[in-house]
Amino acid sequence: EPGTSVVDRVLTAALRSIEEEEDELGRLDAVAADGDHGLGMTRGMRAAVAAARRDPDTVSGSLLAAGTAFADAAGGASGALYGVLLAETGAGLSGLAAEEITTVALADAVDGAVRAFTELGKAQPGDKTMLDAIEPFRIELRNQAGEAVAQAWQKAAAAAVTAAEETAQLRPVKGRAARLAQRSQGHPDPGAVSFSLLVTAVGEELG
Ligand code: ADP
Ligand code: MG
Ligand code: MG
Repeated sequence: EPGTSVVDRVLTAALRSIEEEEDELGRLDAVAADGDHGLGMTRGMRAAVAAARRDPDTVSGSLLAAGTAFADAAGGASGALYGVLLAETGAGLSGLAAEEITTVALADAVDGAVRAFTELGKAQPGDKTMLDAIEPFRIELRNQAGEAVAQAWQKAAAAAVTAAEETAQLRPVKGRAARLAQRSQGHPDPGAVSFSLLVTAVGEELG
């Protein structure tokens, strides 16, 4: 049953948000690519939640399990990338109980996760990928280091939402969408939108 650990709670909230927007994420991905982003995200998030429930003892262990399960289940470019983000955030929180996680500790973990994400995906800011929502999120979380975790996360999530909307103006140079870049003009990047949905749902669940 849900609610047994904070990772379970936030991933379950994120899953619900992704399920609600599955069709829209698919439509966005179909604008210039293969249309499977909604399906991949729901498959990945369901597996991530199940893995976190099987491995509830530590925040770090739950996130590592969730990331591995996400990558295996979701497939695709974003599956591997989200898998790394989840797992490396977990690695960065190793040894901390949920109540010991400060905004600074979380910002440090997210820094490490975004570094690993960038090493894997090799995208640059402005390439019209999920990095264009992730990087503003990372920076705003760091800027909010003096705030409580929930407030800091919510402000960072708001930055991700704005940034995801702004990807509509960008031209894709990475991933499948690059080949049909012109078509994506005026439409936001699906991965940037899914990231903004995930972190918004997590922020609401953190309260
Ligand atoms: P696939 O492209 O394999 O079908 P998805 O449709 O699930 O995978 O995910 C597409 C999203 O993945 C894109 O909208 C983009 O945000 C993200 N993406 C793809 N390649 C990269 C990359 N190299 N670096 C960062 N993000 C990427
Ligand atoms: Mg796709
Ligand atoms: Mg695909």
